[in-house]
Amino acid sequence: MEFRNVTIVDGTGAAPFVGDVVVEGDRIVEVSVSTPPADGPGQATGLVLAPGFIDVHTHDDVQLLSTPDMDFKTLQGVTSVVVGNCGFSAAPSYADLPMGPSFATMTDYFAALDNEPAAVNATVLVGHGSVRSAVMGFKENREATSDEMAAMSARVIEALDAGAIGISSGLAYEPGRYSGPDEMKQLVGLVADAGGIYTTHMRNEANGLLDSIDESIAVAETTGAPLQISHLKASDRSVWGEVVPALEKIEAARARGVDVMFDQYPYTRGSTFFDQVANSGAFEGQSEFGSLSPEEVLIASAPGRPEWEGRTLAQVADDEGVDTRTMIDRIVTELDRRCVVILDRMCEEDVQTVMSHPEMIVGSDGVYGGSRPHPRLHHTYPRILGHYVRELGLLELPRAVQAMTSAAAKRFGFHDRGVIEAGAYADLVLFDPETIIDTGTYMDPKTVPTGIEGVWVNGTLVVENGAITGERPGLALRHR
Ligand SMILES: [Zn+2]
Repeated sequence: MEFRNVTIVDGTGAAPFVGDVVVEGDRIVEVSVSTPPADGPGQATGLVLAPGFIDVHTHDDVQLLSTPDMDFKTLQGVTSVVVGNCGFSAAPSYADLPMGPSFATMTDYFAALDNEPAAVNATVLVGHGSVRSAVMGFKENREATSDEMAAMSARVIEALDAGAIGISSGLAYEPGRYSGPDEMKQLVGLVADAGGIYTTHMRNEANGLLDSIDESIAVAETTGAPLQISHLKASDRSVWGEVVPALEKIEAARARGVDVMFDQYPYTRGSTFFDQVANSGAFEGQSEFGSLSPEEVLIASAPGRPEWEGRTLAQVADDEGVDTRTMIDRIVTELDRRCVVILDRMCEEDVQTVMSHPEMIVGSDGVYGGSRPHPRLHHTYPRILGHYVRELGLLELPRAVQAMTSAAAKRFGFHDRGVIEAGAYADLVLFDPETIIDTGTYMDPKTVPTGIEGVWVNGTLVVENGAITGERPGLALRHR
């Protein structure tokens, strides 16, 4: 397979050039600069060939197996995902956690991924919440005993031995919120010994943002593990602007040798599990999720209650003829941990401040399910390339592609990926930089982005002309 006279954005951040790329099997074997005549036949097509995008922050653990075509990822140019984020992973078994079927061990999970390949590649984090839930249950609001710490350590070591690239925490959620810094330091220490990474959905992204940055950095500094702060944001009106001191803290830590980075999705609204928000006290005052009004909460997924999806909490309460408090209790009672909501939490200026930072990498944080998932699930990458690069000029195309490819690959264990060079795997996306754009809205999110012309995973075509091919060439990649 050959690409002729395409504009190559190679993922390293280098300037684009017009050239040819030759692929044999699953690898790129040749990259050359072409010398077309200035005018006339053979000049550049105008299409950009880039490394396939790597989504470093997903909750696709179950989807890799249950929806292996992964169309919501490949149609936006994504060829690899990192699963197991925010403390939730498919193993060890988490009967109490909200994300669907699970596996007793990480060895079992990898075996399932090997047996039923998906369209995209994946690396896997073990979730601290899953580990704690497997050992202590979901609701134990106390420190772990030494026996429980030993049991959790054994689970983490099993996961690392099986091929997990590190550990994630979700310290705003049950059961992660019940753990203190010492528990994380001990478990992250095991990960550091294995050369793995620590990613964290921090304890409080609202009025505890800066303290949470300090807590996260302290874990990295104590253990020596690389730290990835997930979906960096100031998640309440009262702290808008605090991404600036948050970034300063990250820069200060980096300056003294702590390996800290962060990722981001390009929207001012977040999305999470309703029961966690309701139980946090966000409707009564400040909480880990800030302070929320019923108008700011949009129901994305309500299994068995499609009539609630696409309505705000205020509207649903009105529809049902009850007050907000009664409605909150009704949703939690009826749907338990299965209701996903969209929260209007951030400001655009903060989104742009974070995006402009040279260490930013991209992760969608999409949560699959329901009729109205947050549009980030289907549209994160075209939105950055179309809206923030082309329309706003906030960042240059090579830097944006780098944040989606080589920088992400280096951070999350995708060896020989994220770059266009001879010898690298042929994970590729061909797109039109003049038309690429997200098309999904909060009310109509499951649309196909514009401008993605082709997507290849390990040399196999998975998207052609805005449609999936049905091929599933993805690999479950072990940490090494
Ligand atoms: Zn999260």
